[in-house]
Amino acid sequence: MYNIHNHIADYPDKNVLDIGIDEKEAANVPLFSTGIHPKLIDNTFDEKFKIVSHLASLPNCAAIGECGIDVFSSAEVATQKETFIQHLHLAQQYSKPVIIHCVRAYSDIISAINATHFSLPVVMHSYNGNIQTSQHLIRRENIYFSFSDKCLTPNCAASKSLVIIPLERIMIETDDSSLPLKPIISLIAENKRVGEDIVEKSNNQLFSQIIKCNS
Ligand SMILES: [Zn+2]
Repeated sequence: MYNIHNHIADYPDKNVLDIGIDEKEAANVPLFSTGIHPKLIDNTFDEKFKIVSHLASLPNCAAIGECGIDVFSSAEVATQKETFIQHLHLAQQYSKPVIIHCVRAYSDIISAINATHFSLPVVMHSYNGNIQTSQHLIRRENIYFSFSDKCLTPNCAASKSLVIIPLERIMIETDDSSLPLKPIISLIAENKRVGEDIVEKSNNQLFSQIIKCNS
């Protein structure tokens, strides 16, 4: 199984490891993403972003992120939005997709995407938006929804949204969990009334389409 977003380096298959700004890790893994998590934005941001900018230029950099806006971050939302826009510009510079962390800030995320005319793929990671948010986001063709084990919580927003998000826009990730992907695949298969192999195939196809690096 391909894994669009992961924090644990030993995932066996095609995997985008979120390395943050770890330059050593960048040299060791086939595919990585680099960015500054919105909860880690502080007065060292500019310094750290220089490292992100360098890492983004490497051939095994598959994506920029996770980056985004989180209302529970100690940084102000306006600051987070500015730094998110910097990540979007960087992604545009290297034509790389973006992996987004968003907690209760979808409208700010969308307005940043609009402000930068960002048209590369956008992956909403560990997606947990409600049906209304999902209806809104689906209208944008470059937005993809990646589900982690959070969607397994009974009656959560993510599991309800699964009903309306087309399979062609659904991805699967482990995030920071070491649990297998199988239960997530089963939930999606059940919702979409297809076999688990179809869900797996669709995820892998989408991964290959979005991640242009060939390692
Ligand atoms: Zn993560």
